[in-house]
Amino acid sequence: MTFSLEALSACRADLEEEASANDPQAAFPVEGMARLRKLGVLSAALPETLGGQGFGTGRQGGIGLLHLLRLVGQGSMALGRLVEGHINAIRLIACYGTAAQLARAATDVHDGALFGVWVTDGVVPLRMEFLDGGIMLQGEKAYASGAHHVTRALATARTRGGMTHMLLVALEGACTVSSISGGLAGMRGAGTGRCDFGTLGLPPDAMIGQAGDYLRQPEFCAGAWRGMAVALGGIERLTTLLRQQLSERDRAGSPAQQARIGMALIATESAYLWTRKAALIAAIQDRHDAGEVAATVNLARIAVERAGLDVIELVQRGLGLSAFTRTNVVERLTRDLATYLRQPAPDETLCEAASWFTHRDLPRLEDMS
Ligand SMILES: Cc1cc2nc3c(=O)[nH]c(=O)nc-3n(C[C@H](O)[C@H](O)[C@H](O)COP(=O)(O)OP(=O)(O)OC[C@H]3O[C@@H](n4cnc5c(N)ncnc54)[C@H](O)[C@@H]3O)c2cc1C
Repeated sequence: MTFSLEALSACRADLEEEASANDPQAAFPVEGMARLRKLGVLSAALPETLGGQGFGTGRQGGIGLLHLLRLVGQGSMALGRLVEGHINAIRLIACYGTAAQLARAATDVHDGALFGVWVTDGVVPLRMEFLDGGIMLQGEKAYASGAHHVTRALATARTRGGMTHMLLVALEGACTVSSISGGLAGMRGAGTGRCDFGTLGLPPDAMIGQAGDYLRQPEFCAGAWRGMAVALGGIERLTTLLRQQLSERDRAGSPAQQARIGMALIATESAYLWTRKAALIAAIQDRHDAGEVAATVNLARIAVERAGLDVIELVQRGLGLSAFTRTNVVERLTRDLATYLRQPAPDETLCEAASWFTHRDLPRLEDMS
């Protein structure tokens, strides 16, 4: 199948409409997901030899994936989160799994599987033991996107000895899903839930890679660029709506609103340039020091977070109470973006990157051609 970014662009309004309609009930974007699957979004990250586009591999593939993710994010950040998790799982299997495991994953994708990466532990963390030639899994995952809809979860689990492994779990009936207590304020369409695996036996080939591979650098930090690309889509959409709605209300011409539009455009372009830089260095990571790749993507993560927070404030101050009216799509988008920007350990991310670059220069875009 030939993947078309133009066809994806053309369906953004429909994705947005479904996301708004589903928001009150926190319903899953069933139609949007089916549409993306039909367009080839879910198979795009597979290698061409396995029926994909090789998106995410090499310089061109990195930029292709950047545009795919930001376009999905412009239509629906919740769908973007699900697609990003799916692609993350494929990427981890491609990096650390065997050729047979990747081929099986590709077959599953073509048969309609939705993958997810579930790392965040719940109250009872996910533990594993090697038993009778197989693997015994016990515990739960929290904040699992697509908890009711993901069919293949790449979950991390720790052994008694403290080693972290990746396990690919075919989910049909394998875990009990419950909602996040009280629900999330934003990203309600991402179907985020708690998954209790109870006590579950898995075959040995459920294991992807070796102990410690999930945390291996630079992939562990570098992969964050894909979440940034989805957030970038949300930031771009909010800035577009700020410009449109101020113009429609004949308020765009006042100097204060012009300044807000200018600042929102600067923040949005900063988010784009940082995400592009992160995507590029991640795509050609073997040409750079692992620490440099991780620190560059970490700085980019914080830059995109800052840009998103700035745009939320500019939109809310520029549009006033209208930005808090449930019938204005901006209200949902600011909730979705604010929620999505909560990514793990931001303090550590910034401090580690700052520490790396205290005595080294930042890599230049020109070095990434
Ligand atoms: C919509 C959505 C979908 C998600 N889907 C998934 C999914 O599919 N799979 C998955 O695994 N996860 C998922 N997550 C979870 C996500 O990856 C992050 O783990 C989570 O959002 C981070 O939560 P937090 O802001 O409380 O992070 P924290 O890391 O707890 O950060 C909160 C604050 O505490 C600080 N902090 C962190 N650690 C310490 C410490 N030890 N001491 C002092 N301060 C500290 C941080 O710097 C930050 O300021 C999802 C989250 C969202 C919002």
